[in-house]
Amino acid sequence: MPVKFADRMSTVHRSFIREILKVTEDPSIISFAGGLPNPELFPVADLEAAAVKVMEETGPQSMQYSTTEGFQPLRQYIADRYREKKGIEVDADEILITAGSQQCLDLLGKIFLNAGDNVIIERPGYLGAIQSFSIFQAGFKTVGLEDDGPDLDELEKVLDSSDAKMFYAVTNFQNPSGLTYSSEKRQGVADLMRGRDVVFVEDDPYGELRFMGDFHKPVVRGYLEDNGVLLGSFSKVAAPGFRLGWMVCSGEMRDKAIIAKQASDLHTSTFAQRVMHRYVSDYPIDSHVEKIRACYGKQRETMVRAIEEYFPAEVKVTRPEGGMFLWVTLPEGMSSMDLFDEAIKNRVAFVPGRPFYVDGSGENTFRLNFSNSDEAHIEEGIKRLGTGIKNFLAK
Ligand code: PMP
Repeated sequence: MPVKFADRMSTVHRSFIREILKVTEDPSIISFAGGLPNPELFPVADLEAAAVKVMEETGPQSMQYSTTEGFQPLRQYIADRYREKKGIEVDADEILITAGSQQCLDLLGKIFLNAGDNVIIERPGYLGAIQSFSIFQAGFKTVGLEDDGPDLDELEKVLDSSDAKMFYAVTNFQNPSGLTYSSEKRQGVADLMRGRDVVFVEDDPYGELRFMGDFHKPVVRGYLEDNGVLLGSFSKVAAPGFRLGWMVCSGEMRDKAIIAKQASDLHTSTFAQRVMHRYVSDYPIDSHVEKIRACYGKQRETMVRAIEEYFPAEVKVTRPEGGMFLWVTLPEGMSSMDLFDEAIKNRVAFVPGRPFYVDGSGENTFRLNFSNSDEAHIEEGIKRLGTGIKNFLAK
């Protein structure tokens, strides 16, 4: 008997990246396609020690159901870190711990989006957000990214004309482009958002991974007082397998997010939260983050230098100051999907850019990940890719 699925599932596809990752599982392929942190940097021994302490000292409590809001000492730690590292005031009660920051996108979809509502997203935009909001049958409007953040004139036009419910943005080392909003652009975004009935969702899983350049305050709380939600995550500074993220919001938005979270999963894993709290309390997270920054910084340097050496001059590349990705733009008219087939023959992989554009553009772009390959593989992989691009251009 055929079963009847909900309409909302009819337009949402499996993650394109997950499909690509199947192709790149072959160990002879050097893959810059995944978006994974470097597993050699996971603080395995310290997390193990933290887990043992939690088990020994609070075993039964850490196995029990707990509050939807999340473990209070962990929320306090996050609030304190915002004050110390980002210079913004956040109360522990404004933090909701979630199953990764990805769950925040689902919760925000639940509390804000009716079928057909418009979401403004960057061009290119984060695939996981496109997928998540698509489940709620959202429509998308886009705003182009310049080297220092969104095109503010375009943002104003879209805000004025689209009746959008939400603007979703990744302000630091964006996935996929690696671009970061400058202070001026942050101020500009806040000025445009202020006083509108549009929620500004600032997703910041990469903010701590800055290896060069100036730090900027988040738009939410740094520049914009109301109507903002700030998302964070332990995935890139500790380990993604813990599935721990959070949402900063207050008032009615917080109340509704808690209801949505209760309906989804009651609460985030008690054990994972307690172990993470123990880890950040007892072990030197700052020097750990420093280690990640140093390592990714070197990997990024190697990739940029290899690109300068091996890619033809007409290919444009972003120069991210942090995070895990850089973004490549081929000459107009070239297809990165077609290049992908050529690259696989040369045993190297990337993610073609078009799925990151909800308006169907971006054919000549692609994403490269530098966090999950060592320097030797980056050098060799970029050399192979450069050869592929040159062959392709010569066709
Ligand atoms: N937002 C962005 C921009 C991301 O790149 C990712 C990770 N791919 C996430 C959210 C989800 O991260 P997590 O759920 O592990 O916190």
